[in-house]
Formats: sequence, structure tokens, C-alpha cells
Amino acid sequence: TKWVYSFGDGQAEGSAADRNLLGGKGANLAEMCNLGLPVPPGLTITADACVWYYDHDRKLPDGLEQAVADALVNVGKIAGRTFGDPEKPLLLSVRSGARASMPGMMDTVLNLGLNDETVNAVARDSGDERFAYDSYRRFIQMYANVVMGLDHEVFEEILEDEKARLGHELDTDVSAGEWREIIARYMATIVEELGVPFPQDPHQQLWGAISAVFASWMNARAITYRQLHDIPASWGTAVNVQAMVFGNLGDHSATGVAFTRNPSTGANELYGEFLVNAQGEDVVAGIRTPQSITEAARIEAGSDRPSLEKLMPEAFAEFLAICNRLEHHYRDMQDLEFTIERGKLWMLQTRSGKRTAKAALKIAVDMAADGLITREEAVIRIDPASLDQLLHPTIDPHAARDIIASGLPASPGAATGEIVFTSEEAVEAAKTGRKVILVRVETSPEDIHGMHAAEGILTSRGGMTSHAAVVARGMGTPCVSGAGGLRIDSRNQTLVALGVTLKAGDVITLDGSTGQVLKGEVAMLQPELSGDFGQIMEWADATRRMKVRTNAETPADARAARSFGAEGIGLCRTEHMFFDGDRITAMREMILADAEAGRRAALAKLLPMQRSDFIELFEIMKGLPVTIRLLDPPLHEFLPKTEEEIAEVAAVIGVTADKLGQRVDELHEFNPMLGHRGCRLAISYPEIAEMQARAIFEAAVAAAKSTGAPVVPEIMVPLVGLREELDFVKARIDAVAQEVISESGVELEYLVGTMIELPRAAIRAHAIAEVAEFFSFGTNDLTQTTFGISRDDASSFLMTYQQKGIIETDPFVTIDIDGVGELVRIASEKGRATRPDIKLGICGEHGGDPASVRFCDSIGLDYVSCSPFRVPIARLAAAQAAI
Ligand code: ADP
Ligand code: MG
Ligand code: MG
Repeated sequence: TKWVYSFGDGQAEGSAADRNLLGGKGANLAEMCNLGLPVPPGLTITADACVWYYDHDRKLPDGLEQAVADALVNVGKIAGRTFGDPEKPLLLSVRSGARASMPGMMDTVLNLGLNDETVNAVARDSGDERFAYDSYRRFIQMYANVVMGLDHEVFEEILEDEKARLGHELDTDVSAGEWREIIARYMATIVEELGVPFPQDPHQQLWGAISAVFASWMNARAITYRQLHDIPASWGTAVNVQAMVFGNLGDHSATGVAFTRNPSTGANELYGEFLVNAQGEDVVAGIRTPQSITEAARIEAGSDRPSLEKLMPEAFAEFLAICNRLEHHYRDMQDLEFTIERGKLWMLQTRSGKRTAKAALKIAVDMAADGLITREEAVIRIDPASLDQLLHPTIDPHAARDIIASGLPASPGAATGEIVFTSEEAVEAAKTGRKVILVRVETSPEDIHGMHAAEGILTSRGGMTSHAAVVARGMGTPCVSGAGGLRIDSRNQTLVALGVTLKAGDVITLDGSTGQVLKGEVAMLQPELSGDFGQIMEWADATRRMKVRTNAETPADARAARSFGAEGIGLCRTEHMFFDGDRITAMREMILADAEAGRRAALAKLLPMQRSDFIELFEIMKGLPVTIRLLDPPLHEFLPKTEEEIAEVAAVIGVTADKLGQRVDELHEFNPMLGHRGCRLAISYPEIAEMQARAIFEAAVAAAKSTGAPVVPEIMVPLVGLREELDFVKARIDAVAQEVISESGVELEYLVGTMIELPRAAIRAHAIAEVAEFFSFGTNDLTQTTFGISRDDASSFLMTYQQKGIIETDPFVTIDIDGVGELVRIASEKGRATRPDIKLGICGEHGGDPASVRFCDSIGLDYVSCSPFRVPIARLAAAQAAI
């Protein structure tokens, strides 16, 4: 087996294609060598060697030591020095580098090969004694920390102590002789703390460092990082051993990091920082303030410290040319590390740079416009999930933040408003145009209208999948959930945070992207939906096959979704239309009625309200398809719960509290999710479905007249398991349609279909399709019913499942392709077999999840439907799926 790959002097055994074997850093070092760029020579030990090490009880493979020794001879030849040689010692850096960039790994060890003897040779050779001892002390600090496990603070204390004693402010002020004394203290401390001396043998140092890189693959930090980022432990890490170049060799030396484009705005300008007479991580460590690389950036920053461009014009010019070359070569923005040794530039790393969502859009659009990448590549390069950041107002990064509490970043975006403690107040305030933040311990379905009215939602209890979080994300309303430090006293209308008491009416700001709660109003940046965003969306739309609809029932949501490019409504949940104001009262009267006649009387009050809701939706959608789901939740959800509430409600509807309490008890179910809901309601109480159908058809007639565009409503029957259920409900709908047609004299076109959200429905889809003209996969319920897991109770154990590797992703977030997905696939095929032109879509939350959207495309669904703020994400994901 070949365990070692060499690079240096314009050639390399590996290349960028060998990322899996050589790690990202090693592969790109090889690639830069092959391009003829100035890279210090070195070698890469393959990730396979690391895998072997773990397969064999942490032993190194035979032949590895010899291969490294041979490669080092070659490195020495190129560098003109010999590793371990007392006269002309070769110094090395030992750098970890996995396939994916991994901050959890071992820190780099620099200046390896120095000891009490070679340090003198380095001093002689460079003619700079201070440099030699500065390098030595750095090496001791890093090696003792990273390889020997000694806390780095031990050294910092000694250094601070000595600097104070000597009256020096900066490390660069410390003289050679002073470093020598500090080193003596370091050495003594190592023996004292660890009981062993610092290794003087360069070979022992080298193998200590290499083994430490391998061992760090399994340290706690790395394991956690891998779990969080889905990186398999089986990959292993490569090790790069490379000749040192020195940025700390006086005032013509420097070290720095740069991006070929601005990583926060995407602007096509070199962006980076450097430090003169410094090494390694000094630039990012914050010990000294780094300087700008370009003159333009220096001027913009208003700094009087010279730029690299001014200070070392030749090295700068070469660096600029290399930046352009690498960006063209990799066809992407690069993140670079470099060092200048006595005026000579060396490249130490290149990789695709991390960037903000905004920068990603600009870079992709600019590169496509320049012909560097194709439009399809530009579309592929944007992470759909990242768009979420761009669709909401955000807090101005320059604004001061007075943080009074923090919770979970439950729904992105920022919002400012007055504190209100109840949904009723939120609704009242919104009517008069006041902006409010709804503050609750937690929220429940009765809070929906208050949540809609509020600019933002803050809860002191509940996680990322709490009611508040899920609903807020669906509505695109910023939300901070589970801010445990808050004391909410809704009776006294106060909120205590960090000892500060706030009252109803006081202004706060939420940052739903970070989970922060801020006092007062804070400056915001508004989202930018045209420009680069609009361009990428246009290219995405030209590419995708699937349509994208939205889940919406309020006019505000429907309008927002249209502005985000929704091509219709895939799910209008009519129950949400029954919670508002008078409606809930009529709804409760209906539920409390003893007989059909009483129910019909109450429903008659609801009819005009529903009709006007639908007219508005049809008008907003201007002829685009609208799928309306008949009443789905169990009726008890509309009834009060506590004794207090029952008494209050009883008074409003004019029944006794006893009677209401009794009805509440009757409607109690042990497992409402599997209870009297969905089409089961329409079968028990057909008059409810009939009222809804009438409202829909009358609205269609009215909206067709007002907009001039034909309206073809799609009526969706929920929770069908038996074809006979659908037969029953469809017959009622058809009968109502006939009535409306003869009453209005207008011909009506409409579709009746069903949600597929029970395994039985999926299995019997061929029979159901004889009745249903469309299927919409309700994958939230289908996931619950397929797994037999209740979503509301799942968070406690699904987390454990993920941690223990039983499942990779939460099936409520990304569709379980093997199980739930298989049912969707089967149902689609069966549905099409019966009815070739059957319309197929998905309306669960998966409709806005990029991985699930890809699956939907692969099985040929006609559309996905998702909450308004996820529409752009779905458009982009659908395009990527089609490429
Ligand atoms: P990370 O993966 O944390 O960026 P690196 O292996 O890139 O770690 O090393 C960190 C820094 O150490 C580099 O940015 C560079 O400044 C310095 N460094 C690494 N190798 C060398 C080298 N051969 N010569 C000089 N400096 C080096
Ligand atoms: Mg690096
Ligand atoms: Mg459902």
C-alpha cells in the first residue's frame, strides 16, 4: 500500500481529485504544486493509514515510517536542509486534514525539529537569533499543548509574567536572550507538570505529532463535530508534514489569510488580513490587530497601518495573480493561507471559502455572468436552506444589542414591537396598526390568530418543535422559544429578564436567527428579493419540472406566498378559519347542538364567513389552483379546557357550564390523533362538509366573476383510509355542486381528491383513485401513522435515536424515503395506474425540505406545497433536483 504522497518543487504525486485519500488540505497542496505555485515541499500520509491505525489497535502500518523517511529526504533536497541535522536542520509543520474541513481536529504543530542544539544552527543560519528563539518557544508551547496535553495557559502565564517583569508590551519586543530565559522556565514547568522532559530528538517529536493527529480523530471534540455534520468516523484523517517557511523572520516577513471575494457581501474584491513578523495563527488569535491586504480595504477601514499592497508590493502582486489563477482553476471563491519569508511568497492552503447566503448568491450570479460557471452550476451552488436567512428582516450587524434573555432560534428573522401577553390583545393591537410581540409561556392552537397578528413570538417554554416554533416557522414570523431565563407573569402583565422588569406595552426586539431577546427597538435591514436573489430564482424556475404551491389559509399568507413565487395553494386548512372572533362562538354552538337542525343553524352563520374567506383567497390566487381541505381536527380542539374557560364560554353561548362541561367530557379522546377527525367528521356530520362545499362553490362563482379568471377549486377530503369513505363524502360534495350550479346558473368545474396520510390509503390507492381526482400526500400524518409515532411526543426519544445512530435524520423533517417514501411511491404508481392524469402533490412540512423535494421529483410528483416562507427554498430545491 502507498501510505505517503509527496509534493514540492512544481510536482506532486496526488491532486485535487484525491481528496478522499489525502484530505482537503493535502489534495489542494498537491494541486497547487502541480499548478507550479510556490508551496513549501512536504508529504501527505493518507487517511487510509489513519483507518488502518484504528483497525489495528492504534498501531502504525508497517512501511509507513520508512516511506515518511524517504519522502523527507526528498523534502530536504528541495529545501536544501536535512531533518534532524545539527548544522542545517529542516524544520517541519505537522497538519491534520480530513476529507471535510473539521475544526474539532488537532491543532497544527509548527517549527518541529527544533531542540537545544538545532535552535543555535537556525540562529546562525538565519543571522537572526531572536527569530530562532521565538520559533523555539512557539514550538515548545504548541507541542507541549497539542501532543503532550499540557494546558496552554501554563505557558501564557509564564509569558505574561516575564513580559510584565521586563516591561514589554508585545511578543515582538522580547529579545533573544529573554526568550532563552523564558524557554528555560517552560522546560522546567513541563518536567514539573508532566514528569517527563520535552523531547529533544526530532524523530521522536515527529512521530509524537503524527500519532497525535491520528489520535485526535477520536477526541471528544472531533466526535461531536462529526455527529453534528454527518461525517462518518470511517473516513479517518490524513496528516500533512511540510517544510516550514517563516513569517516571523523579521520585518520583510509576514503571514496572512485571504478570501478571493468578500465572504460577507460577495463583492469581487480581494479580502484579507496579515501581520508582519508573525507566524501561524497569530492573525486569527487576536493578540495583535491584523492589517488589511489591499490598499482599498485599508482606506475603507480608515486604518493608518500600511496594507500589504503598499508594504510588500512585489509579494502582493504575485499573491493577487495567484488568487485569480486559483479562483479560475477551482471555479469558486477561495479561502487562502499564505506566508511571506523575507519577501518571498509561499502558499500554505486553499479551499472553497465559506460565505453568507447573500454572498453565495452574488458570487454565483457574478461567476455565471462572467462565464466562469454555467447557470445550472450557479443554481446548484446555492444551499436552498440558506435562503431562509434572506427572506426576513435582519438586525443591522452594526446596531448595538442590549440582550435581556436568550432562547432557541425557533423561526428566523427579526421583529420589534410592544409586549402583549394574550392573543386577544395581539389581535386588538394589530387592528389599530400597533406592532406587538406576543409573549407566552407556551402557545396552543387557540393562539393562532394572536400569532398571526403579532410581529414576533416569544415563549419561555418549549423547544424547536414546540407549537410556537412550528407554527411561527410556517407563518414566517420570527420566534424565540424556550427562553428559560424569562419570568412571565401574565396576570400582572410583567416580564422579568435578567432582573429587569418589563410591562405590557414596553418595546422589545427578537432575533429569531440567534434566539436573542433585546431591549427596545433595534435597527434592521430589509430583505432584498430582487437582484441576485431574483436572478437565481429565475434560473431555477427555468430549470425545474415540479410546480411549487403554498400551504396558506389567510390572505396575508397567500399574498406573501405569491410574492415568493407560489403557483397556487396546495393546502388551505379550513379549521384555522374557525378560530377567529365570532366564528369560534358559532363553531361551539354547532358542536353543542343536540341535533342536526341545531347544527345546521349554527353552520348557516359560518357559511358567509367561510365564503368570503374563500373569495379572497381565490381573488389573490387569480385562477391558480387552490386546494381546500375539509375540516380535519377533532371537535374538542374548539372547546375550552379549564373550568374557568368553560364558565366563560358557557355564558357567551348561553348554555349552562354543566352542559358545556359534559360535552367537553364526551368529546374527550384518549388518542385524538387517531380519533374522531378527518373524513370521519364528515361522515358523522355531513352537514359540516356540505356547508364547506357550498362556501367553496359559491366563492368560486363569485371570484370567477370578479377576477374574470375561471376558478377550479380542488376539494380535499382528509384522512381517508377506505374508498367507501371518499364515495360517501364525494356524493355530498357533488350534490351541493349541482345545487349551486342550478341556483347560480353558472357551470362549475371542480376536483374532488383526498389526502393520502394513512398507510391503508397508500396501499389501496388504485381503488381510491377511482373516486379521487387528485392525491395530496399529507406526509406529517403519514409519517406518524407509518412509524406509529406521535409527532408531539417524539422529540424526547427521536433525539436519543439520532445520538445513538438508530436514525440519521428526524423523519418529521426529512422524509423517510425507505418507509414513508416507499408508501408515497407505491400510492403514486397505483393512483396513476387507475387514473393516468391524476394530479399528485405533497403538502406535509416535507414539501419545504430540500432532501424531501428531491425525492418528490424522483418519483414524478406534479408539485410540492409548503409554508409561504419556504416557497423559494422549494423552488430552488426543485430546480436542483431536476439538474
Ligand atoms: P488549520 O486547518 O487550523 O487552518 P493549518 O494546518 O492550515 O491549520 O495550519 C494553521 C496555520 O499554520 C497556517 O495558516 C499557517 O499560518 C501555519 N502553517 C502551517 N504549515 C506551515 C508551514 N509549512 N510553514 C509556515 N507556516 C505554516
Ligand atoms: Mg489552515
Ligand atoms: Mg393530516
